[in-house]
Amino acid sequence: MAKFCSECGKELEENSKVCKNCGKQIEENINSVDKRAVTTTKSANGFAIAGFVLSLVSLLCCGTTSLLGLIFSIIGLVNANKNQGEGKGLAIAGIIISAILLILLIVLYSFGIIASFTNGFNDGVNESFNGPYY
Ligand SMILES: [Zn+2]
Repeated sequence: MAKFCSECGKELEENSKVCKNCGKQIEENINSVDKRAVTTTKSANGFAIAGFVLSLVSLLCCGTTSLLGLIFSIIGLVNANKNQGEGKGLAIAGIIISAILLILLIVLYSFGIIASFTNGFNDGVNESFNGPYY
């Protein structure tokens, strides 16, 4: 696997501890960067991934998990902002998908209530007006 100098970006010879180009010691630097990347990915992406997955699941399950997906994605976004933006894209995608599904659900639900209310009202009106004549 090729390594590159963190200081000047030159490709390094395998197992070399010092950059030929600029003389910087690289081995320790690369290790510390790797460790930091692993820990931030773990801590920041957990909620972002969960939120994104939940929002995708809610796509398949008529939006039933969209509220959970939205909550997890928001937590994921907050964590991403704390951790150099790790998982930020996933969190934002999760928020957008969940929010759209949630709004659709609310709109459809309220339309359903209005429709059933007006239908019931019309039925009642029709019955009371037409009833006696049958
Ligand atoms: Zn260098």
